[in-house]
Amino acid sequence: MNAQTLICAAALPFAVPTSRWDDSVAATLSPAELLLYRANLLGSDLTVTNFGGGNTSAKLVEVDPLPFAHVNHVHPDAIIALAGSSGSEAATQAIWGGRIGWLPWKRPGYTLGVMLRDYVAANPHLEGVMLAGHGIICWADSARACCEHTVQLIADAVNYLNAKLADKPAFGGRVVADNPDRAAIAADLMPRLRGLMTSARNKLGHWSDDPEALEFTGSADFARLAVLGTSCPDHFLRTKIAPLALDPARLRDDGYLAQQIADYRAIYAGYYERCKRSNSPAMRDANPVAVLVPGVGRITFATDKTTARLAGDLYGNAVNVMCGAEAIGEYIALDEQEAFDIEYWLLEEAKLQRMPATKPLVGKIALVTGGAGGIGAASAARRRLRGAGRPRWRSGRGCARRVYQAVRQRHGPRRCV
Ligand SMILES: [Zn+2]
Repeated sequence: MNAQTLICAAALPFAVPTSRWDDSVAATLSPAELLLYRANLLGSDLTVTNFGGGNTSAKLVEVDPLPFAHVNHVHPDAIIALAGSSGSEAATQAIWGGRIGWLPWKRPGYTLGVMLRDYVAANPHLEGVMLAGHGIICWADSARACCEHTVQLIADAVNYLNAKLADKPAFGGRVVADNPDRAAIAADLMPRLRGLMTSARNKLGHWSDDPEALEFTGSADFARLAVLGTSCPDHFLRTKIAPLALDPARLRDDGYLAQQIADYRAIYAGYYERCKRSNSPAMRDANPVAVLVPGVGRITFATDKTTARLAGDLYGNAVNVMCGAEAIGEYIALDEQEAFDIEYWLLEEAKLQRMPATKPLVGKIALVTGGAGGIGAASAARRRLRGAGRPRWRSGRGCARRVYQAVRQRHGPRRCV
């Protein structure tokens, strides 16, 4: 067997959304409540949003350009895949036969609003518009029709992509098999990477070996696509544009890892210097967020465990996008300056500034011995309040379990082991 044909399973398919509109609920709601109901229905469906809701109501333009009562704007993976491919316009035509229009990439803002208004006025038969490199906007006469129309358009896109993906393995097929020792390799690698990521704040890592992560990192096209970076702002504001890809054969080599991290930081600083404007905010942390290792999976780093896991999930969305985009053409990454302007958009910067203040122990790992009772238990709860990850108990299992459950109940999961 040659390496290029190591594994030839068909690509993992996209999930098909279905409408969850309930007339008996909708009948009881005011117009304002209906709008919220529609946003919540779409926002809580992971096949419609990127992750965990919230991006269906993203402000697309600074003016309201469309003369319709009910307008939706969404960017689920399948839609961004269509939007971010060299085959975007042709696929839009093939799927909807002219019912859905197509506009080239334009950063969200006033100009896009004007473009959209003029385009829709000139094409009054349209039921929506695909925005290249971004997502879709669509409309209908009633809240229910708009919700169902949105879900149907996503389902159309998913079915089209899944038909293309069924024919062949994703990303040119697998060339690196899943490493059976990947959990141990990740456990060894993560603290060493964490120690190399010098910055103002400590970091925690989250490892995932979900099928999508292994399919992508082990594929023939991995190296080519990883450097292109993620194209959706919802993704890269959390993941950075590009991940750090590591050679699985050199993970034991500390010098190699140090050089890779240093090179990544230098490349990020170069990107900042090339693209910065006179009023750009200061450079953000230059360390990688996503670290990808063929056969091992995806590790993401952030100042706390939840943010690290979220960044990993969003990189997973970015991989889905690349998979779908490559199935109908070539994946098109965002232009570097455009990406920078979004990453350092003053509006986004203001949003980040409004995030709650970081607790003093965030990014640190606390090891509490004798934590089953007395001073140890109080110390564990106290550390958790101050943001430290994973207090750990070493003895007194029954007692420790009660403390563990109390801390977990009060402060949330994924913090104690
Ligand atoms: Zn958008």
